Amino acid sequence: MAILKTISSPIGRELSCKSWETEALMRLLMNSLDPRVAENNQELIVYGGTGKAARNKEMLEVIIKELKQLEPDWTLMIQSGKPVASFRTFPFFPRVISSSSMVVPKWATWKEFSRLEDKGLTMYGQATAASWAYIGVQGVLQATFETMSEVAKRYFNGTLKGKIVLTSGLGGMGSAQPLSVTMNGGVAIVVEIDEKKIGRRLLNNYCDIMVHTVDEALELANEAALHERPMAIALLGNAADVYNDLITRGVTPDVVTDQTAAHDLLHGYIPSGVTLDQADFLRNKKPEKYVELASKTIISHVKAMSAFQERGAVVFDYGNNIRGQASKAGYQEAFAFPGFISEYLRPLYCEGRGPCRWIALSGDPGDIYKIDEVILSKFNSDERICRWIRYVQDKIYFYGLPARTCWLDYKEREQIGEIINHMVASGELAAPVAITRDHSEGSTMAAPNRETEWMMDGSDAVADWPILNGLLNTCAGATMVSIQHGGGVGIGNSIHSGMTAVADGSIEANEKLKRLLKIDPGLNIIRHADAGYPTAKKMIEKYGINKPL
Ligand code: NAD
Repeated sequence: MAILKTISSPIGRELSCKSWETEALMRLLMNSLDPRVAENNQELIVYGGTGKAARNKEMLEVIIKELKQLEPDWTLMIQSGKPVASFRTFPFFPRVISSSSMVVPKWATWKEFSRLEDKGLTMYGQATAASWAYIGVQGVLQATFETMSEVAKRYFNGTLKGKIVLTSGLGGMGSAQPLSVTMNGGVAIVVEIDEKKIGRRLLNNYCDIMVHTVDEALELANEAALHERPMAIALLGNAADVYNDLITRGVTPDVVTDQTAAHDLLHGYIPSGVTLDQADFLRNKKPEKYVELASKTIISHVKAMSAFQERGAVVFDYGNNIRGQASKAGYQEAFAFPGFISEYLRPLYCEGRGPCRWIALSGDPGDIYKIDEVILSKFNSDERICRWIRYVQDKIYFYGLPARTCWLDYKEREQIGEIINHMVASGELAAPVAITRDHSEGSTMAAPNRETEWMMDGSDAVADWPILNGLLNTCAGATMVSIQHGGGVGIGNSIHSGMTAVADGSIEANEKLKRLLKIDPGLNIIRHADAGYPTAKKMIEKYGINKPL
């Protein structure tokens, strides 16, 4: 298909759709499939194992065509990456609503899901892939940075200087890890089995060097740690093998985690002793054998992580359900170490902080820098945000549409929409801006092995909150609302929702943004207050959030 070879979002002010709302969604969809942004755009795979933006190439073309002709009071419906109908609604309501990867709970297994996917009836949408909000590694960078900062604060006097972090996976999300470690002053050893992925991360400076042996990795890491020099080392190899090798050698890194795409044993995780070519062959010819081998490897992988913990390392699951997979494969003690959300990020959710992101539809990086400057001046009392903006300005360069992600609290999110919309209206920015977010927030994802693990009131598996979030965002004027299943931790393990709005400078956009941007942080606070978290209860009073009970 010609479109995929050259796909990249249009930029500038000229519209090819009938409104900025539909234009924004089309640009975001195309941006997520830009070969510089997506992990494998020929397969429409954006990130996270097999997370896709459209069902197939034909459907991608139809979606783009439909968006181009959609009237400003119509709503297009996407069913797992396939446009199924449009209906006349109201200008204030979303232009696109989408539901992805949903299956009836009893049938929510990878086996049944793959059968439906193979028949062309559904698509795995991950989280920001099917909601067209993926912006490359930067999207998850701040969450990863905040996690590493929290680890540093809790265990190492606020810095990772002189500390070695062992992890794996340099995919769409995982490659945020090395940079987050070096940004906190530490040394990262990241094990990755695919040399091409390492090459990509070396190109954009997320990693400093590639090595082929554990000896080389250790020598470099120890030397850098000794001199408190930040360094990101990519080690070509199989994570389970390397972790077990280190256990045998008696080496204990300071921090250990993992971000292979372990949520999907068949497509996201390479078993020990299997090359990438052999993996492709086995997947196609003997999928059950493949899963059996992957399950065996994952048990030894998780056992090694637990052994590191017993030796005193700080160990946590990084949102890929590796503990869940090991437990399913028969390893009873798989949950010996915690998940990163319950351990490090939940306190931020309780405050209403969450991952907001904005994308310059102009294609002009200057728009992002201008918004940065306003944030640095208006939110100057929030040291966390200012430190983040200064870091990324220094370290990140843009590919695809220029974008910024930033964890903002209730008040800041309320303000940011109006600030950006005003900057568009005044002509300060070259074109409108899309405002969206990750699905990984307190009220927007129900995932008992991740976002809702070990909730205070035991409500881990209650999945009403992301549905309420999606419905409320629909009522409040979002441009796109999506409801999804299986993101992050895989089929059967999560329900979540996405939201995108557009600051086009109009009065209507301002009204929408004022309402919308309170919903995510507000529900975040309410969900955690409802579960009994004292900080969230205080935030309800502090921000005067309306709560009937
Ligand atoms: P990806 O599919 O883009 O990358 C996974 C990487 O792991 C690939 O590069 C692959 O080659 C490598 N890999 C697989 N098996 C390996 C092995 N045994 N040894 C070494 N390398 C191996 O996935 P991604 O987008 O980077 O996401 C990684 C995981 O994190 C997924 O499970 C995803 O669902 C989850 N996730 C985490 C967060 C978060 O905030 N932490 C957010 C979203 C998703």
